[in-house]
Amino acid sequence: MRFRNITVAGGGVLGSQIAYQTAFHGFPVVIYDISDEALAKVRDRLEKLKPNYMRDLGASQEQVDAAMDRIRLTADLADAVREADLVIEAVPEIPEVKREFYERLAKVAPPHTVFATNSSTLLPSQFAEATGRPERFLALHFANAIWRHNTAEVMRHAGTDEQVFQDVIEFARAIGMVPLPLRKEQPGYILNSLLVPFLEAAQMLWINEVADPETIDKTWMIATGAKEGPFAILDTVGIRTAYNIASGKAKVGNEAYAKLAEKLKAMIDQGKLGRESGEGFYRY
Ligand code: NAD
Repeated sequence: MRFRNITVAGGGVLGSQIAYQTAFHGFPVVIYDISDEALAKVRDRLEKLKPNYMRDLGASQEQVDAAMDRIRLTADLADAVREADLVIEAVPEIPEVKREFYERLAKVAPPHTVFATNSSTLLPSQFAEATGRPERFLALHFANAIWRHNTAEVMRHAGTDEQVFQDVIEFARAIGMVPLPLRKEQPGYILNSLLVPFLEAAQMLWINEVADPETIDKTWMIATGAKEGPFAILDTVGIRTAYNIASGKAKVGNEAYAKLAEKLKAMIDQGKLGRESGEGFYRY
């Protein structure tokens, strides 16, 4: 394993999970975030992850505490990356914020350090130049609740060095992920390239009054043996996210999506946000 010292930039929802998972698998981890105030929140998020590892993975109190002890927090970027072999960036999904972060990082990181972005919707080639080391830069994309949903989509851009690509695949495996290599840039990676059109097709059947959500889900489940249908998946994703996507498409003049956005908005107004509120298309 070429990487030993790992730095995670941005200790939010995903950054804290990535850092904790990495430390749980024995790596020393530094988390960089913007201020002491932000770092206090990061510490809180890390503490809240411990019970998940005990409940879902059968980890002991000693194991979850030892993972925590391997994590150091700092608001000083140069200090955070001084010894880093790999920096995993999980800062907000705002292009200017990411670009500005890579420009600052490029100035302080050692030359050998590899950078990986956890961005869900932006492509690594958008930031390759800002990193100052395009050949040592790629995407390493995790899913929420990474200790359970342990996919790691490893996506290179055209300029990524093959050895770096392989090293990151190996690292993903070393922290308990199932590495899923993407040899070319693809918006949405593999999962969302499949899931987004699938969920949209289901919602269109509903909006066009072809069938109700339960019938659509039942069709999918019985015919394919899947445990869940698209509307059950939408309840997990959250109705707010589904609404944001639909209203985005409605804004560019798509009438079917305007109708969909209206129906989803009505659900939100009734407090039906999906699993998180106990009701969406189904009751939980
Ligand atoms: P978040 O808002 O929970 O966390 C962002 C963190 O970055 C915060 O702690 C914030 O203080 C910090 N931050 C803000 N500006 C910064 C800067 N300039 N430098 C360093 N840190 C900064 O966001 P998140 O949901 O964890 O998402 C982070 C990244 O992970 C995004 O690129 C997102 O697309 C990706 N991602 C998110 C999910 C998800 O389900 N939330 C899943 C996969 C990938």
